[in-house]
Amino acid sequence: RRREALVRRQRQLERLRGVPAATRDAVRISLQCNLELPTELALARQVGAEGVGLLRSEFLYMNRDTLPTEDEQYAAFKDIVEGMEGETVTIRTLDVGSDKLAYSLGEHISPSVNPALGLRAIRLSLKVSTLLDTQLAAMLRASAHGKLRILLPMINSASEIKRVHEALGKAVKRLARKRVAMSDPLPELGIMIETPGAALAADTLSNFCDYFSIGTNDLTMYTLAADRGDEQVAHLYDPLHPAVLRLIRSATQAAGNAGIPVNLCGEMAGNPRFTALLLGLGLRDLSMSAPNLPRVKQRILGLELADAVKRTEQIMEQSDSGVIATLLDDFNALE
Ligand code: PEP
Ligand code: MG
Repeated sequence: RRREALVRRQRQLERLRGVPAATRDAVRISLQCNLELPTELALARQVGAEGVGLLRSEFLYMNRDTLPTEDEQYAAFKDIVEGMEGETVTIRTLDVGSDKLAYSLGEHISPSVNPALGLRAIRLSLKVSTLLDTQLAAMLRASAHGKLRILLPMINSASEIKRVHEALGKAVKRLARKRVAMSDPLPELGIMIETPGAALAADTLSNFCDYFSIGTNDLTMYTLAADRGDEQVAHLYDPLHPAVLRLIRSATQAAGNAGIPVNLCGEMAGNPRFTALLLGLGLRDLSMSAPNLPRVKQRILGLELADAVKRTEQIMEQSDSGVIATLLDDFNALE
């Protein structure tokens, strides 16, 4: 009986594929997919994703001894951009180090006492500039085949973004000299907001980039100083902690004030338990792993945004994440 119920429920969710995600009071929400591997593209299409909100480019570097070439990366990005048939694909530059390992990069990263605070993500790409240059060129070339945006992980300061802008400008010139096709206008450049520093400085960082993507997986870890991969402190890793929620809210408001788009692509986006809260905090664009998308869409279809906003206001006055969890779960049970 349980199996039959599950199949019935899956069929119901499949029927949502072509239904636009909108709340009962007609606020449209954009739902996109996170991809870790190109093979996940088929499922993203199947669930009706309105784009790829986060393509983690680490897969290109994993399980191999040599670094991927520009041509290899271009071919992989092009396939995904073409596969999304006109929907935007957001490709993030390499984010290895900390919890994400790649042997092909071993020689560039020395062991660190605190790898999560060490040479990872954009820090590595800026240190080993060939890594960044190769990826930017591959992305620029792939941009000729569809809508592509570039996303930078672990940004903390404007100077990091400026250095990427410089590298991007040089890559554009180099490709233009060789008459290589690129999109016109050139791809937008966005940043992950996934450290407390970036969230607190979001208003100033907005002057240097085209959009924000809030990464709650790392934001929660760094805000609460609780390793996202360490079972021993798993009970301290709590995305409902008021500090995490305040940072999400202030980054979302900073984007609104600056008039740039903002989306959220951490695991919170794919859990219907958090949907009302995220919409209440002002988010209208969520990116998640494909299997979660139908359940989040169903939650949105049953939600009255005005009620979610009211409940979020109550939640934001609380100091205890246990009370926050109860307020959220009670609200979810009502709807
Ligand atoms: C995040 O940190 O929330 C995020 C989406 O990036 P990743 O999980 O790849 O670190
Ligand atoms: Mg992250």
